[in-house]
Amino acid sequence: MSDDAGPSAWIGTSWKMTKTLAQAREYARVLADVSWPSGVQPFVVPPATAIAAVAEILPPGGPVLVGAQDAHWEDEGAWTGEISVPQVWDAGARLLEIGHSERRAHFGETDERVNLKVRAALRHGVLPLVCVGEDAEQRAAGAAVEVVSSQVRAALAGVPETARVLLAYEPVWAIGSGGRPASPDDIVDVVAAIADLGGTARPVLYGGSVSLDNAAALMAVPRVNGLFVGRSAWQVEGFIALAAIVAECST
Ligand code: PEP
Repeated sequence: MSDDAGPSAWIGTSWKMTKTLAQAREYARVLADVSWPSGVQPFVVPPATAIAAVAEILPPGGPVLVGAQDAHWEDEGAWTGEISVPQVWDAGARLLEIGHSERRAHFGETDERVNLKVRAALRHGVLPLVCVGEDAEQRAAGAAVEVVSSQVRAALAGVPETARVLLAYEPVWAIGSGGRPASPDDIVDVVAAIADLGGTARPVLYGGSVSLDNAAALMAVPRVNGLFVGRSAWQVEGFIALAAIVAECST
């Protein structure tokens, strides 16, 4: 679906640690039959166990991109429990989610590691989706723009300006079942600050408690180029309905 100019909008979901193989295949089979609106690039990010099964149904080069939720920065070696970018590529992933706040909070993901993973993805032709976002304390201190800009700068250190990288702005306080949905006013300044950071325009997706109720308003924020969704897209009907909203808002 992408052309040289890239899609005009993105809609993606990470399934996090949900779905059996059967559930993943069932979801993917429904997506395989959808006529996607032009200009919209859908992607799904299954757990590692289901990447290959999903990519058999939604193969590389087709309308729906398949991603991985994480990968190591080294190509191979003695890293028990880890998977590498060449391995997720081999399984059919062409996008790599990097630096999600849950990985930063629980698994020691630092800005430095995020940068190593961005470079590893680019080395292998996998599209990095870099997740950034401030926590509630940082927001309360008025530091959101500074914190998120610094995360983006660190993620992209040494990365060529021409490299294709997606950014997902996901305020930590807005994510998950305990999250407070962000309003357009909450996010406008941060999105504006990172969309052209370093002089290169990059697509910015918004994520955090996106639902059918707030998707259009969030898409209307200047420089928001798509949505990255958790719970509201874990049922395939939710994903398809959100894709339709994204399409409508981006024409
Ligand atoms: C997320 O965890 O990145 C996310 C966007 O989740 P949710 O939509 O469920 O808040």
